[in-house]
Amino acid sequence: MTFKDLGLSDSILKAVEEKGYTKPSPIQEKAIPHILKGKDILASAQTGTGKTAGFTLPVLQYLSETKHPKYRPLRALVLTPTRELAAQVYDNVREYSKYLNIYSAVVFGGVKATKQIATLKRGVDILVATPGRLLDLHDQKAVSFKRVDVLILDEADRMLDMGFVRDINKIISFMPAKRQNLLFSATFSNDIKKLAAGILRNPVSVETAPQNSTAKKVTHKVYKVDKKRKTELAIKLIKDNNWSQVLMFTRTKHGANKLTQKLIKAGISAAAIHGNKSQGARTKALKNFKENTIKILVATDIAARGLDIPLLPHVINYELPNVPEDYVHRIGRTGRAGAAGEAISFVCSEETEYQNEIEKLLQEKLKSTILEDFEPTDTAPPKRAATQSKKSFGKKNKGGENSRDSNKKRAAETSSTSKRKPKRKPHFKGNKPNGATSGRGRTGAPKKKRF
Ligand code: AMP
Repeated sequence: MTFKDLGLSDSILKAVEEKGYTKPSPIQEKAIPHILKGKDILASAQTGTGKTAGFTLPVLQYLSETKHPKYRPLRALVLTPTRELAAQVYDNVREYSKYLNIYSAVVFGGVKATKQIATLKRGVDILVATPGRLLDLHDQKAVSFKRVDVLILDEADRMLDMGFVRDINKIISFMPAKRQNLLFSATFSNDIKKLAAGILRNPVSVETAPQNSTAKKVTHKVYKVDKKRKTELAIKLIKDNNWSQVLMFTRTKHGANKLTQKLIKAGISAAAIHGNKSQGARTKALKNFKENTIKILVATDIAARGLDIPLLPHVINYELPNVPEDYVHRIGRTGRAGAAGEAISFVCSEETEYQNEIEKLLQEKLKSTILEDFEPTDTAPPKRAATQSKKSFGKKNKGGENSRDSNKKRAAETSSTSKRKPKRKPHFKGNKPNGATSGRGRTGAPKKKRF
């Protein structure tokens, strides 16, 4: 099967070819024909499967082939949980639409709304947005949903986790009832099923991998180690193996900062990315990581969700997540797009229960190793794992980002700016780098491939 066989137009095929894609990924092969026929889709797909092109290409084709009024009302809306994901999806939209007469933009919180309002007022065919900022802009009458034909919910499970369900429903209430709906989610909880049932009409189910399965080419490795020696172990592995691009996960924002400082002190370039960092700092850290200016990106679960970092060879779980599904999300960053990857976890005695729950979810035992000189001596009793994401919600989670409260807080940080000012001025201004703020798809020079 080729992209041409899927029925995509020459202008889209040219852009896809320039991206270097030789054939459609399984999700693209399965979803694109249905989307082109105007069907609603319920797709189980994680980041790394090519889902963004899976919905963007057919939607662009639809937009470019249908007539629209001169003032360009908004006709396709992509909702994403985080600013970073919004920026990445927008980058893709721009790249795939570079030979089409399509206007695109992105809006999210944490940056000034003025430019976004100006862009929206000029008319936009397809908009990528986080829900909170989008509602703020709608309240300010900067955008109308009355002509939306296609609604895409990207990483819907994460949007629910982050407390966006009311915002999503509100946005939808302003849309015409007759429209196409595409819902993408990595997991299918009852809440997702409920959301889907309320939005989708006779959806076609598209599945690429069994639910909660991890990418096939990922090897899992557990290092049993004392809690207080984890940093030492990380430094040793990174230095001995000369790893140049590692994504490391901590459970808390404080933990991410502390680990980053220790790595830097050990001479390893690193940056942290989490909900307390300003948008400018997060964008910069991600950019530096992608460009290999820094070797290590230390992230919390929410901050890392949806980041497009292709061909990432190593992911280290410095601490195991207490929600087993988060393990699946974390290691979705490695072994992507057909490349092999290694998911390494540092497990201390307190975390054995978390490991058991992860193994149950994966239906697979994780291979455990003890490194010489790092033999564990701790006997602290294991902490109880949250067997489902939901169980951890609402629990006080010492500085962590997994609880519903902190998720909501994070959601507010992510999207609402009318009441909340960014702690620091964004590093970029205007219509600028890596699509980090809103811009006109057609006006800027085609963006450079970043990897
Ligand atoms: P996504 O799951 O949409 O975040 O995409 C993950 C990565 O796969 C991105 O870097 C895409 O550029 C890349 N990608 C998407 N479709 C294809 C394809 N058909 N062939 C190769 N790479 C692809």
